[in-house]
Amino acid sequence: MSEHDDLTFYRQIKARTEHNCAKCAQLIKAGDLYYAEDIKDRFLHSLHRKKFCRQCYQAMEQKKGELNNAFGP
Ligand SMILES: [Zn+2]
Repeated sequence: MSEHDDLTFYRQIKARTEHNCAKCAQLIKAGDLYYAEDIKDRFLHSLHRKKFCRQCYQAMEQKKGELNNAFGP
């Protein structure tokens, strides 16, 4: 029910250079897909952008789904 959640989404990006996952610190190699946090806000755009590996992204999506289910019938 928080507005912040509605503004945050993840963009799938193919790495051009090496990165480290912001959550598990796993190396994301050039050419690998990763997920960058993005915020639908002009003023915050591209600031505080975190990068996550596919594993962490999927774990977060799963957790979000479980939370949504908690409010379901
Ligand atoms: Zn990770």
